[in-house]
Amino acid sequence: MRKLFVAGNWKMNLNGEESCLLAKNLKKTSGNVTALNIAVFPPSVYIKRVCDVLKDSHIAVGGQNMHTESEGAFTGEVSGPMLKDVGCEYVILGHSERRHVFGETDDFIAAKVSKALSDGLKTILCVGETLQQREAGRMQEVVSNQVEKALENVDKNNMNDVTIAYEPVWAIGTGHTATPDQADEAHANIRSLIENLFDADTAAELVIQYGGSVKPDNAAELLGQENVDGALVGGAGLKAETFVPIIDAGLNL
Ligand code: PEP
Repeated sequence: MRKLFVAGNWKMNLNGEESCLLAKNLKKTSGNVTALNIAVFPPSVYIKRVCDVLKDSHIAVGGQNMHTESEGAFTGEVSGPMLKDVGCEYVILGHSERRHVFGETDDFIAAKVSKALSDGLKTILCVGETLQQREAGRMQEVVSNQVEKALENVDKNNMNDVTIAYEPVWAIGTGHTATPDQADEAHANIRSLIENLFDADTAAELVIQYGGSVKPDNAAELLGQENVDGALVGGAGLKAETFVPIIDAGLNL
């Protein structure tokens, strides 16, 4: 039985004090929630402080990215074991900003996914097409390719530590949300691909989040779709007043 999973990707926002305050507020309102999974992804320099605030709650913490190596001469990078060391349970990999702003390739993302899983980090793998690709009728091909490549080296037994976030690039931070039907169609495609790559049980158990301008006023409809199992939230995740109603929308389904 899939459990809804609502996650807040704080990106490069909030200073240390603001991060801790948001974590404190979330702990107060949603820290005891167990009916769905909740995680937050602070900037890496504040992960430890946020973990300290959220200890003894059910809200998990994760990193927004990691390197393929555990250590070495990779200036500015953070490794999986380092994320684990400061208290992370999760890591986001393949976010569209990593792909499109920082030029991360499918191969690099695939290497990160297998490293994260072997480091014991649960992984949110982000996939999604650009507007140009959607308009060219290539949504399914692009998304399927991204999923297939990223999971190339992943064993079926590790798939329970993988969440996929379908995030159409044209919907991220733009205020344009995929319609519930568009989201459900993309998610259903991903689920049937997973059935082909692994098996029916793995596909049925896979949590697929939608991401792209999820807000309190569209969350219930999106989360109510059969194949939408949660949300990866950017902008609306930066304030308890907008993140908590998204969690509540999931709880009230
Ligand atoms: C994201 O960055 O993953 C995201 C979905 O952002 P937003 O909710 O702001 O569109």
